[in-house]
Amino acid sequence: RSMSSVSVPPPKCLQKTFVAPRRHMFGPGPSNVPPRILAAGAEPVIGHMHPEMLEIMSDIKSGIQYAFQTENNMTIAVSGTGHTAMECAIFNAVEPGEGVLTAVNGIWGERAAEMAERIGAKVNSIVTTAGGYFTSEEIDQALAKHKPVLFFLTHGESSTGVVHPLDGIGDICHKHNCLFLVDCVASMGGAPLYMDKQGIDILYSGSQKVLNAPPGTAPISFSERACQKVFNRKTKPVSFFLDMTWLANYWGCDGKPARIYHHTAPVSAFYALRESLAILAEQVTLVWFLNHDAIHTLLDRNARLPTVTTIVAPPGYDWKEITSYIMKNHNLEISGGLGPSVGQVLRVGLMGGNSSKASVDMVLEALRDALRYCHKSKV
Ligand code: PMP
Repeated sequence: RSMSSVSVPPPKCLQKTFVAPRRHMFGPGPSNVPPRILAAGAEPVIGHMHPEMLEIMSDIKSGIQYAFQTENNMTIAVSGTGHTAMECAIFNAVEPGEGVLTAVNGIWGERAAEMAERIGAKVNSIVTTAGGYFTSEEIDQALAKHKPVLFFLTHGESSTGVVHPLDGIGDICHKHNCLFLVDCVASMGGAPLYMDKQGIDILYSGSQKVLNAPPGTAPISFSERACQKVFNRKTKPVSFFLDMTWLANYWGCDGKPARIYHHTAPVSAFYALRESLAILAEQVTLVWFLNHDAIHTLLDRNARLPTVTTIVAPPGYDWKEITSYIMKNHNLEISGGLGPSVGQVLRVGLMGGNSSKASVDMVLEALRDALRYCHKSKV
């Protein structure tokens, strides 16, 4: 046997032609990607530094500014998922030893706390029941007590189905000399959100929910106030990949004439993101929100997160049997609970193009069918 012979044979499984299943993606994400966005992602790959690519990135920046309702210059898409943007926000805004306060009413505040702990921040959390949210007074008091440099809040808590009120919280944070960081991965485009008017300093989202783009890119924006902190650090952020000094240059946000190679951007994913933002820009914002609102009311009358509806898991049934049955027989994904809501709820996400009455009817029909055929305990 020569040195060039392979000892690991080519895998048989890769000889099969791949075809992705066709599914109704009605869980909390990813959502269905419409043909127009899929087609954009299938365009030929060009270089990540080519002028046409830089123009696409500039378009993406404008699209995010519209979606976030912000004029922030420091607005980009991170190459990665929502978690990547979360780490980008925290890693850049916080130095070791500084204080962070997270609001926990589901899993996202817990995760933000863990990320901040990992970079050596002093982390405190305010905690409320799953399904609950915080009053401005509670937030004001916690900020006065802990004096953090950053306050984390989830706008659309996808694990519990809560949309957190935002009005006034930015001002409270600023009174305490604290940056206001908001997660809108599950809410952006589906619930009213105004970054500048609401005094949000750092806002991030994801591509795979209301935007209906494939997972893997994450919009993020930093206010002037946030930039003051991010670009005047004593220490470098722990992550080279997420260092906003580098990313700001790659995205043309630092005013420097030359773009320096930082990483190879996911070119096809940026094409798709651009197209998804173009579709969002074609909607009148209000109509977009109303659509989600109307659909949501059909499913759950307690006005809650319009994009992800939590339905009490039917008593006596095994929720996993229900979701598996619906997947198997209806090619339709809905999901169980997450974190504090595990075993308690089913989660139905109808986002972007999926937020139609036809989708609601499909989900209801599938649930009706599942309740008929799944096993109900005698108790
Ligand atoms: N925040 C919220 C509110 C989310 O719903 C999600 C995705 N479920 C994330 C963050 C994380 O996003 P990703 O899975 O894309 O990393």
